Amino acid sequence: MTSSCYDPGADGRPCGRCDSCGLRAKGFAEAGKEDPLSLRFGSGERRAS
Ligand SMILES: [Zn+2]
Repeated sequence: MTSSCYDPGADGRPCGRCDSCGLRAKGFAEAGKEDPLSLRFGSGERRAS
C-alpha cells in the first residue's frame, strides 16, 4: 500500500488534507471501506503541537 500524499509526516503518515489524500479518502469511502492508513495513523491531527 502506497500513499501519494504530497506532504507526509516523518513517520509516513499521510497528511489527510492534500488533494491526493482527499481523493484517496473519497475512493475508499465510495468503495465502502476504511482507509487502512487512516486506521493505522488515526484520522485527526491530534499529535501536532
Ligand atoms: Zn496528504
